[in-house]
Amino acid sequence: MTIDLDRVRNDTPGVEHVAHLNNAGGALRPQVVTDTVVAHLRREAEIGPYEAEAEATERVEAVYDSVARLLHADRDEIALVQSATVAWDVAFSSVPLKAGQRILTARTEYVSNAIALLQACERSGTRLQVIEDDEHGQIDLDAFEDALDDDVALVALTHVPTGSGVVNPAAEVGALTRQTDAVYLLDACQSVGQLDLDVTAIGCDLLAATGRKFLRGPRGTGFLYASRAVTERLVPPVLGLGAAVWTSPTTYAPVPSALRFETWERSIADVLGLGAAADYALSVGMSAIEERVTTLAARLRSDLAAIPGVTVRDKGLRRSGIVTFTVDGRAADEVRAAGARAGVNVSVTRVSSAQLDFGARGLTEVVRASPHYYTSDDELDRLLDVLR
Ligand SMILES: *Cc1c(COP(=O)(O)O)cnc(C)c1O
Repeated sequence: MTIDLDRVRNDTPGVEHVAHLNNAGGALRPQVVTDTVVAHLRREAEIGPYEAEAEATERVEAVYDSVARLLHADRDEIALVQSATVAWDVAFSSVPLKAGQRILTARTEYVSNAIALLQACERSGTRLQVIEDDEHGQIDLDAFEDALDDDVALVALTHVPTGSGVVNPAAEVGALTRQTDAVYLLDACQSVGQLDLDVTAIGCDLLAATGRKFLRGPRGTGFLYASRAVTERLVPPVLGLGAAVWTSPTTYAPVPSALRFETWERSIADVLGLGAAADYALSVGMSAIEERVTTLAARLRSDLAAIPGVTVRDKGLRRSGIVTFTVDGRAADEVRAAGARAGVNVSVTRVSSAQLDFGARGLTEVVRASPHYYTSDDELDRLLDVLR
C-alpha cells in the first residue's frame, strides 16, 4: 500500500494554514476526527449526556476494537484513559516494588516517567539502574542483559523518545525480559501512529500511549495495553466503579480485563474521536505510514546536515520521524520563532525534559521537527529555506 498524498492532505484542513512539523507534540487532525467529536458534543446538548452515550454504545465499544487492531492486541487488553501519563502511571503504580529490587531503564526515558521512577524508588527502597547507550545511541543490549536478573521488578523503556531521533530496540528488550519475571512497561507515546506496532512481537506486558501525537486523535486521550497474563497479576492501587464490582457491602472484585486500569468518567466525544483517528490510521495503513515518515525524516536530516551551521543531533541505528538539530549562534526559540513567521511549526526540547539523555551529550536544548505522512516535500523545503 502506498499513500495517496492528495487524499490525506484533502482530509486535513490544517495543511491550508501551516506546514505542521510538530506531530510529536500534537498532530493536525483528519476532518473525520473533528467531525466525530463535534457531532457527539452536539448530541449531548440535544438529548442529554447519558442518553447520547447510550445511543453511541456500539460505537464506543468499537473504539476498543480499533485501538486493539492498531497494536495487534485483543480488545479486552485495552484501557482507554485521559493521557499517556495516566496510562503509564496506573500501570507503573500497579507493579509491586520491594526494597532491594531494581528497576531498569534507559537514558531516553520520558521526563514524567523518570520523575515517577525516582519518587517510587525513594518510597519503596527499590533501586533505579540506568542502562547506558551503546555506540549507536540506543539502549546497550549487552549491558541490559548483564543487568537483568531475578531482582529486577520492572523494565521501563521509552520506545521513541520525545527529544531525539532514536528508535530503541523494543523487541530485543522484550525477548530478554521475557526470560525473567520482570514486568516490561513500554512507553510507546511517540511510536503509536508512526510505526507499525505489534505487542506480541515486541513482547511487552504493558504499553502506554497518547491520542494526540502521531495517531492524530483528540487531546485528552490516551490508552494502555495490558496483556491478559499481566492483568491477572496486577491490580491498580486505587480501584473504582468500572474497574471493580462492588459484590456485597464488604467485598469487591476487580474486573478480569484491562478495564481495571480505567476510571469511570471520561469525555465520550473524545473517546469516539480517538476511535476515528485509529480507524483513519488503519485505513491509510500503518506500514505505509511508517515507511513515508521514515523516508521524509531521513531526507530532512540529510538536507539539514548540508546547511552550514546546522548540526543534526539524532542518534540511533534505527531512526524515527523525530528530527532534532541545533543552529550555531541561535537559541532554539529563535529558530522556532523564525519558523513560525514563515508558517512552519517546529518545537523545542530542553534538558529539563531529558536530563539523562541531553545531560550525557552536553546538550541544553534542540529544535525538533517532526513531519508526518501527510507532510509534503514542499513543506520540508519551507523549513530548510528558513534555516538557509
Ligand atoms: C508526550 C509523551 C508522553 C506523555 O504523553 P501525555 O499524553 O502528555 O501524558 C509520554 N512519553 C513520551 C515519550 C512522550 O513523548
